[in-house]
Amino acid sequence: MTPIIDARNVSKGYGSGAGRFEALRDVSLSVGRGESVAIVGKSGSGKSTLMHLLALLDTPDAGRVSFAGQDVLALPAKRVSELRNKEFGLVFQQFFLTPGTSVLDNVTLPLKIAGVPARVRKERGLAVLNQFELADKASNRATDLSGGQKQRVVISRALMNGPSVIFADEPTGNLDSATGAVVEDALFTLNRDLGITLVIVTHDEDLAARCDRQVFIRDGIIESETRRSGAAA
Ligand code: ADP
Ligand code: MG
Repeated sequence: MTPIIDARNVSKGYGSGAGRFEALRDVSLSVGRGESVAIVGKSGSGKSTLMHLLALLDTPDAGRVSFAGQDVLALPAKRVSELRNKEFGLVFQQFFLTPGTSVLDNVTLPLKIAGVPARVRKERGLAVLNQFELADKASNRATDLSGGQKQRVVISRALMNGPSVIFADEPTGNLDSATGAVVEDALFTLNRDLGITLVIVTHDEDLAARCDRQVFIRDGIIESETRRSGAAA
């Protein structure tokens, strides 16, 4: 079956001249539809760089990235951002919520970008917030929430456009373990019940072990891979 995301021989460096640093060297990774994949490694190993390439937030210096069999680097930038907005949900450690703006407005931002009318945005926003037991916080300022509530708002926002893939970069990194567990459960429920593909960057071994597959990255290369026993090949 065609993988949903396929990165072939991608490299990515930062800076130029003597200050140039190769963050990712000739990495290949395929992600199957409906799979959950953990990208694991020490700080500075290139995890976020790889995830940014897979999530089409950045382009590699060399190599190829395809989504559902389509070479993404051949597409015009506008098509890539439409694809990203429609197909991907992003969940980052730092939340990236707009301060001083309501929970509802934060959650429905992807719909606004997609040109969905205000009434529909509100309806769909409230429906998703309700699922995460946040409907009563809809008009609160996003910044006034607890860490766990914030991350549930971020997941709600990531779900707004019915994504096929959720990318999560250290999603529980800023949360205590009990709150982190709630957020993790939310992600794996989406994977199991809706078939949403998960790509999770983490250095939490327990979180990685819950994924179907673990990809270990070190100094910009994939060092090894493991598969959870019982996970479909
Ligand atoms: P990880 O997520 O595993 O901690 P990153 O992918 O963020 O690692 O970074 C890999 C390496 O690339 C690190 O050494 C980091 O300092 C460097 N790096 C990442 N982003 C940039 C950037 N925008 N400019 C310069 N160096 C960067
Ligand atoms: Mg990182």
